[in-house]
Amino acid sequence: MKPGMTIWRCKNCGAGFFPKRLLCSRCHGHDWEQDRVYAAMVEEVSTIRHMIGQTDWTPRRIASVRTADGQRMTVGLRDESEPGTAIALFEEGSAPYGAAKS
Ligand SMILES: [Zn+2]
Repeated sequence: MKPGMTIWRCKNCGAGFFPKRLLCSRCHGHDWEQDRVYAAMVEEVSTIRHMIGQTDWTPRRIASVRTADGQRMTVGLRDESEPGTAIALFEEGSAPYGAAKS
């Protein structure tokens, strides 16, 4: 597990995006550098109870979150966090996850 989530930051104006854009929507720049964001706020939670083609599926919770830097992303939840919870972001493989800050 790797703390934080990758975002892309415009080298020209500093605006951060996820996922990566072709052009910066603020200044139309196209030079990017990777950055990391470590914290987010849960906005919405859904539970995936079934997955077509999966027989041994266990329900999973996913959350729409807004990061401390302003990006909105969907992450897997590793605990019972509800909307309004401040979570820490981390990556496992290339998948994004979140859990309440301890
Ligand atoms: Zn920019």
